[in-house]
Amino acid sequence: MAKIPVGILGATGMVGQQYIALLKDHPWFEVRYTAASPRSAGKKYKEAVAGRWQLAKTYAPAVGDIIVEDANDVSRAVAAFKKNKCSFVFSALEMSKDETRALEEEYAAGGIPVISNASAHRWTPDVPVLIAEVNPHHADIIPFQQKARGWKKGFIAVKPNCSIQSYMIPLHALVQAGYLVKKLIVTTMQAVSGAGYPGVPSLDIIDNLVPFIGGEEEKSEKEPLKIFGTILNGQIQNAVMPKISASCNRVPLVDGHTACISLAFGLKKPACLEEIKEIWAAYKGLPQEKKFPMAPEQPIIYREEENRPQPRKDRDADKGMAVVVGRLRPCNVFDIRFTAVSHNTIRGAAGGGILNAELLKHLGYISAKK
Ligand code: NAP
Repeated sequence: MAKIPVGILGATGMVGQQYIALLKDHPWFEVRYTAASPRSAGKKYKEAVAGRWQLAKTYAPAVGDIIVEDANDVSRAVAAFKKNKCSFVFSALEMSKDETRALEEEYAAGGIPVISNASAHRWTPDVPVLIAEVNPHHADIIPFQQKARGWKKGFIAVKPNCSIQSYMIPLHALVQAGYLVKKLIVTTMQAVSGAGYPGVPSLDIIDNLVPFIGGEEEKSEKEPLKIFGTILNGQIQNAVMPKISASCNRVPLVDGHTACISLAFGLKKPACLEEIKEIWAAYKGLPQEKKFPMAPEQPIIYREEENRPQPRKDRDADKGMAVVVGRLRPCNVFDIRFTAVSHNTIRGAAGGGILNAELLKHLGYISAKK
């Protein structure tokens, strides 16, 4: 099968670099277009990231020679997409919300589907916030979005905040098994790569913990309600549960977000902790026979050791796409508590974005250009 050429906006940043590295040997998609700020525009990709490439993995030599474009120049992108037959763009831009929102809309209006990591459109009612395993049906809103805006081929689909992936998938497994998750108290310990590059100043974070990440607690409390929401009249209506109280902390780790969760069920509760572990073990997420290249074989991995999961040891599980869970035990205040780890720039960013693109290809929303 010929690979689908794709573009990356924000290709030089923390998440953009992950996209470039993860797509190096991807069987369906191949990077043909990169764009970033005017600071990087006009340079070869390898020159633009020289001295600030953050990953142990590398990029395809051909990508190193691609000239980085200015992501703000949409008409140039539309022309380049036609020439290169690119089908869609991954957006990993770090700009103001208003600027990102307007720019992503310009790409979509120009006929380029945008699969975004930015938060700008997470609250737009006709834009799906996708975790491929949890709410693939929210892609059904795309035709409503296109019709409402007069977009023919372009659309915007986003993924949620990186800190919620580790518990949204275990929660979804419980909801799918028929249990109502009513309340959550979540405390996160989030790695510095979550703040992009150069991110948090070293003197603020080495030998320290910062008990505040701007906007993160609000996102953690609200985004799950949209993801668990339903499509009604061309918009996503948020769910009313679970009610969430989140405390988000920045910790001196490079990658891997950890969350400690206390959870209250509705009236119907699992019979015992073993039943919950069985539900998590049986959870397969996306249909296995479809063979989505970025999907983990086992989306939830339960570790029985009393001192796991740990970010350094567990963040790379199954290509960095599995959520590793442990320490499931009764809660003295709610019903249960557990700890979960996920890789923030893979499952929580570029890997999740690629899996969303694979899902949207499977559903027919993106395809190779003739
Ligand atoms: P980053 O390391 O700061 O990278 C930002 C990217 O945006 C760079 O490519 C940068 O280009 C480009 N950019 C900055 N200003 C621009 C402008 N005025 N015009 C065009 N391009 C511009 O940030 P990041 O961590 O990769 O995050 C990217 C996006 O993903 C953000 O929206 C973030 O909220 C989201 N996200 C991040 C994570 C994570 O774990 N880091 C997880 C989930 C979602 P230059 O290199 O040329 O400056």
